[in-house]
Amino acid sequence: MTAEAKHILLLAGTSEARQLGKSLADAFPENRLTASFAGAVRDLPDLGVPTRVGGFGGVEGLLAFLQQENISAIVDATHPFAVQMSRNAAEAAKTLNIPLLRLERPAWQPDENDRWTHVLTMDQAAKALPAGARAFLAIGRKEIERFTHRTDVFGLARMIEPPPNPLPTSWELLLSRPPASAAQEISLFRDRNITHVVTKNSGGSRSFAKIEAARFLKLPVIMIARPTLPDMETAPSVAAVVDRCRQILARGD
Ligand code: NAP
Repeated sequence: MTAEAKHILLLAGTSEARQLGKSLADAFPENRLTASFAGAVRDLPDLGVPTRVGGFGGVEGLLAFLQQENISAIVDATHPFAVQMSRNAAEAAKTLNIPLLRLERPAWQPDENDRWTHVLTMDQAAKALPAGARAFLAIGRKEIERFTHRTDVFGLARMIEPPPNPLPTSWELLLSRPPASAAQEISLFRDRNITHVVTKNSGGSRSFAKIEAARFLKLPVIMIARPTLPDMETAPSVAAVVDRCRQILARGD
């Protein structure tokens, strides 16, 4: 490594971050790349690059890390609903005047036959379910508690790690990652007689199968809109991030 080698921090936690680990390492072999995971799940993927795990300790901790590690650029490839990390990254990057680029995958859009109800919050989503519904809840362990008072509905809650508190006894907990194929989702929804799908508008292809399945089965979807993220430069794809990083690193700031 030369004395001028730059150091990129990749904030991970999405399938695109996984691809970025390899793409950035391939594109900039002369530079350093460190990936960072929150450590929210146990079976973290191997990005094939040096990796750190765990929160930084808020903005203060992140500032200290960026300085200690002499970070030259930050790529935020966290999930669109991981607002806190993106806010912290924006604030720290601004303070230290470090370039920050966010991979912003496009939100899912309904097609003409989709039956989507758009809501802004988890609470609105919980309210939107009619009594007696059999809801597939692709919500995550942190937010599921916004739904658990709805004991008048059946919830099939899928998440990677178990929730902090037990779910209603009449509900079902499915501990798994989303399957790749719509056929698997269709089969699951049919098997559990699902009548409604509740999901965040995550965008991307990794968890799109449930949207395809709802489309196929003509199920209503309660779609939770993305939270507002801080204003920052974005790129829509892995390739676009790599291209933009090339310019940023060449600029030398
Ligand atoms: P969050 O609410 O934005 O972040 C909470 C705290 O977790 C942050 O303040 C930070 O702790 C730590 N953190 C988050 N991402 C980190 C990273 N890449 N590296 C180091 N620390 C990180 O995030 P979240 O919604 O809990 O999501 C946690 C992780 O799961 C993220 O990496 C995200 O991409 C991934 N994920 C989230 C969702 C979702 O729906 N929220 C879905 C799929 C994957 P400190 O303040 O201590 O630095």
